[in-house]
Amino acid sequence: MGRVLITGGAGFLGSHLSDLMLERGHQVVGMDNLVTGSTENVAHLADREEYAFVKHDVSTYIDVEGPLDYILHFASPASPIDYLQLPIQTLKVGSLGTHNVLGLAKAKGARVLLASTSEVYGDPLVHPQPESYWGNVNPVGPRGVYDEAKRFAEAMTMAYNRYHGVETRIVRIFNTYGPRMRLDDGRALPAFMCQALRNEPVTVFGDGSQTRSFCFVSDLCEGIYRLLMSDEPNPVNIGNPAEISIGEFASTVIGLVSSTSEIVNKELPVDDPKVRQPDITRARAILDWEPRVLLADGLATTLDDFRGRLGL
Ligand code: UDP
Repeated sequence: MGRVLITGGAGFLGSHLSDLMLERGHQVVGMDNLVTGSTENVAHLADREEYAFVKHDVSTYIDVEGPLDYILHFASPASPIDYLQLPIQTLKVGSLGTHNVLGLAKAKGARVLLASTSEVYGDPLVHPQPESYWGNVNPVGPRGVYDEAKRFAEAMTMAYNRYHGVETRIVRIFNTYGPRMRLDDGRALPAFMCQALRNEPVTVFGDGSQTRSFCFVSDLCEGIYRLLMSDEPNPVNIGNPAEISIGEFASTVIGLVSSTSEIVNKELPVDDPKVRQPDITRARAILDWEPRVLLADGLATTLDDFRGRLGL
C-alpha cells in the first residue's frame, strides 16, 4: 500500500491517523519530539511490525531511511495554551519544520498532506468560513505565532507544489475532539470534562456566546484519508458544521457527566474568535465526505476515555 511518515505521530491526531493508516494496510513511521505528544498515545502500536517510532524534532533536518510514499505533517503545538507557552517552537515547526518535510518529500518522491487549521481564518468576518475566505488574523497578537506559522506553511506547501512539482494536499482542520486528547491541554473539551468529572467549577471564558463547531476524531481522520488519496492540491476544510456556543457546550458536558459543577466566567483570551463554523461544500463535492458522529455519541465515547485515564 505504501509507507507513510506521520510527523506529530504521538499527538492526539497523529496517533489516530497512525491507527487509520495501519488499518488501511500502510506501514507507518511516527515521528515526534514529544513536547506536547506522548508515547502513551502509540504504546498499543509498539509491537507492530508495520510500525516504528522515531523521537525527533522536525524543525531540524529530517533523516528517514528507506522509501516514503506519503508524509502527513501534523507536528505542532496546537492548543492555545500550548502555543502561547511555546511560541518560538510553534513558529519554527510551522516554518522550518514544514520546509524540512517538503524537502524530504521532494527527495523521496512522496506526497505531503499539511495539517493546516481554521485559525488561518483568524477572528472571521465571513461566517461560515469557505476556503476562499482569506481570513482576519492579527499577526502580532499572541495567537499570531500559530496562525501565521500555518499560513506560512500553506504558502510554502503551494510553492513546493508549483515550483518543484511535489504532490501536496492541505487540510484546514476545525475543532476536533475525542479519546486521547491531553487532559491538561487547556482546550474547551478537556477542561470542561475534567472539571465536570471532579465536580469543580467549569471555566467558561467570556460570556460563553462565542461559537465553535466540534468534529469527532474518527470523522476527521476519514476526511483526511480521503483528501490524501484525492488529487486536490487546494485547501479543503474538514470539520463538523454543527455550531454551538461555548456556554451551551459547557452545560452539555456538565449534563452528560451528571456533575454538580457550576459555570464560572473567566476573562476571554486575547483575539479569541467570536464565531467558527466550517463551510464543507468542497469536502462534500470533492471527497464525498461529511461527518457522521453526533455530538452526544462522540462525547459519550470521549467521556469513557477520560474516566478511564482519570480513574473515575
Ligand atoms: N474556552 C473556555 N474555557 C476553557 C477553555 C476554552 O471557555 O477552559 C473557550 C475558548 O475561549 C474558546 C473556546 O472555548 O472560545 C474553544 O477554545 P479551545 O481552546 O478549545 O480552542 P480554539 O477553538 O479557541 O482554538
